[in-house]
Amino acid sequence: MPEHDVVVVGAGNAALAAAVSAREQGARRVLVLEKAPEELRGGNTHYSGGLFRFAFDRGEDLRALVPDAERRIPDFFADVAPYPRTLFWDDLRRVTEGRADPELGEILIGRSYDTVKWMAGKGIALEPALSLSGVRVGNKIKWSPGAVIRAEHEGVGLSKGWFEIAERAGVEIRYATPVVRLTQDRGGRVTGVTTQSARGFEDVTAGAVVLGCGGFEANAAWRARYLGRPWDHAKVRGTRYNTGDGLRMAIELQALAVGQWTGCHSTPIDADAPPYGDRKLTDKTNRLSYPYGVLVNRRGRRFFDEGEDFQFYTYAKLGGIILNEPGGVGYQIFDAKVEHLLEGRYKTGTPLVADTLPGLVAKLPLDQSTARRTLDDYNAAVAAGVFDPTVKDGLATKGLELPKSNWAQRLDTPPYSAYPVTGGITFTFGGVRIDERARVIGNSWTPIAGLYACGEMVGGLFHGNYPGGTGLMSGAVFGRIAGANAAGG
Ligand SMILES: Cc1cc2nc3c(=O)[nH]c(=O)nc-3n(C[C@H](O)[C@H](O)[C@H](O)COP(=O)(O)OP(=O)(O)OC[C@H]3O[C@@H](n4cnc5c(N)ncnc54)[C@H](O)[C@@H]3O)c2cc1C
Repeated sequence: MPEHDVVVVGAGNAALAAAVSAREQGARRVLVLEKAPEELRGGNTHYSGGLFRFAFDRGEDLRALVPDAERRIPDFFADVAPYPRTLFWDDLRRVTEGRADPELGEILIGRSYDTVKWMAGKGIALEPALSLSGVRVGNKIKWSPGAVIRAEHEGVGLSKGWFEIAERAGVEIRYATPVVRLTQDRGGRVTGVTTQSARGFEDVTAGAVVLGCGGFEANAAWRARYLGRPWDHAKVRGTRYNTGDGLRMAIELQALAVGQWTGCHSTPIDADAPPYGDRKLTDKTNRLSYPYGVLVNRRGRRFFDEGEDFQFYTYAKLGGIILNEPGGVGYQIFDAKVEHLLEGRYKTGTPLVADTLPGLVAKLPLDQSTARRTLDDYNAAVAAGVFDPTVKDGLATKGLELPKSNWAQRLDTPPYSAYPVTGGITFTFGGVRIDERARVIGNSWTPIAGLYACGEMVGGLFHGNYPGGTGLMSGAVFGRIAGANAAGG
């Protein structure tokens, strides 16, 4: 008889969804083993914006999640555009260039709404993601499709909520207890784990093990090995504890590695951000208002179509693009016309400011004459039209080799500001293969008995890019499935 019915490795969104789900489905003794000490708990989930992307057919469907929303936002339920499954699929397919695993994508999208409802029912407090995805037009708010709801108090609130729910459900949590090995019987069934803590090595036996212990974003050697140069130098946006341990342990048991091992989620962040996530700043170092400005590199050249699409469909690849520019940096340049459109988190940075564009360029450590020419050429290429941040307004430059496809306005209203940015890594895309029950599949294409995985460890969903808010959603959907199946043996 094992000591525990289910052992869950990690204590982020995916792992705690699994632990709570396992208890709900009848597992009596559920143990969570977390590598971080209690004061640093919560994984990437703690640092996240808490945004969940999910499919819903009517704005009214959101009432079950945020019943009080109209106290702050009149007509919220009537004004939010539906985001049916087909649209979620279109987004996922488009940004991953058709590579998202169809079976996992179907489960993720098909169970997304039901899972957010389940979380809300368990006690996760949710709210409209006003500061992140709402744009005010007159007295109405226009919402970015599908990215409307987040956890109250963002990742900090989400993580805290999960710990409270898990503890209330009778889940035992041991901190500062990294899992270093999975144990197996002669038949190949996973029988538990070995931990290594201040108490030394300890074996813990379990009916089933759920791995929810993140990707390898905080492991510089693995970043160099799989993502290549210059990723070994990338700043880590979140936890320092996701070093690929779960992937290593599963692969040691012949788990099938799938998905884009050369790919990751990476966003433009303040160039002065700390090397690992700051627990108070969390995701406030993000710099995602680039669609309203111009982005140049150290050579003074543009290198990305800032208006290719809404930020939620480009930000997760732009970090990597910036990191690959000289010095791994870029400069986002805005004029006063769009100042009010910059996300609130820009206030955590210190921009360089000047009354003229040449004056601004003079303050930046880049090729001066090229930068001045780039900005002049850009201004000359802006066509007439109506600027509208709530739609892809088609206000594009004309005649530039690298266009800006939407929201292209002249930089002509002082003061001008520049924000230095770099690319920060969020999480890695390569992972292990799981099936519809979240069982880890071995490289002989059969499940490894007693082993489940969820969250960032799941490979195959994301490639090259990702639609904002899908990471937490994937973690909750597959965590819930993993926990329920692990409880059932
Ligand atoms: C700054 C930032 C903002 C983000 N914003 C959003 C957002 O708004 N919406 C969204 O969908 N996604 C967002 N993401 C991505 C999302 O937060 C993560 O992908 C998601 O939280 C991952 O959940 P997880 O449970 O798989 O991993 P985590 O939450 O990282 O949890 C993994 C846990 O495993 C533990 N662990 C690691 N190794 C071991 C071991 N050997 N033994 C025991 N424990 C171990 C870690 O300490 C950690 O606690 C953001 C991420 C960051 C960093």
